[in-house]
Amino acid sequence: MSVPEGRFYGFPIYDVAGFKIGKYHHREEEIDPDEFDREPNRMDKILLSDATEKYFPNAAGPTMRLATCMFTNSPDEHFILDSLSDHPQVVVGAGFSGHGFKFSSVIGEILADLAIDRGSEHPIEMFSLDRFD
Ligand SMILES: Cc1cc2nc3c(=O)[nH]c(=O)nc-3n(C[C@H](O)[C@H](O)[C@H](O)COP(=O)(O)OP(=O)(O)OC[C@H]3O[C@@H](n4cnc5c(N)ncnc54)[C@H](O)[C@@H]3O)c2cc1C
Repeated sequence: MSVPEGRFYGFPIYDVAGFKIGKYHHREEEIDPDEFDREPNRMDKILLSDATEKYFPNAAGPTMRLATCMFTNSPDEHFILDSLSDHPQVVVGAGFSGHGFKFSSVIGEILADLAIDRGSEHPIEMFSLDRFD
């Protein structure tokens, strides 16, 4: 199988005797989290082992463990940081599209601003809910 290009990520060997590799958006599946079969299958394994052979040939040994994870993607893959227009006391922080963790501290600050001050000095217009209208 040829490896579809995309964004691979991982961790070097640390604490366990193998390294980690994953593919951002993996097989581009869109799923209902309540219905999703979280058991990795043969195609999932082939995609990652082919990428390991191509990009990290010295590390292409046996697979030690496979795990599934999922994240929510907004339509433009940018965050949603806003208050509901009809209920401004309700603040939304969602749609982090696989890159929310590294911004946790500033996102917390912005959500606190919205909850307490109903606005933020941070430039958050591009994260508004009404951009999808
Ligand atoms: C595989 C993977 C790789 C990622 N890699 C990166 C990366 O490299 N860099 C990066 O910046 N971001 C990364 N992210 C994205 C990042 O993890 C998320 O953007 C971030 O965790 C979202 O934070 P959150 O607080 O919105 O949601 P979560 O971190 O999902 O927190 C939600 C919390 O609410 C709890 N909860 C859910 N329902 C209820 C309920 N009904 N009652 C009470 N508690 C509830 C859950 O248990 C959980 O603790 C990755 C995500 C995944 C899945």
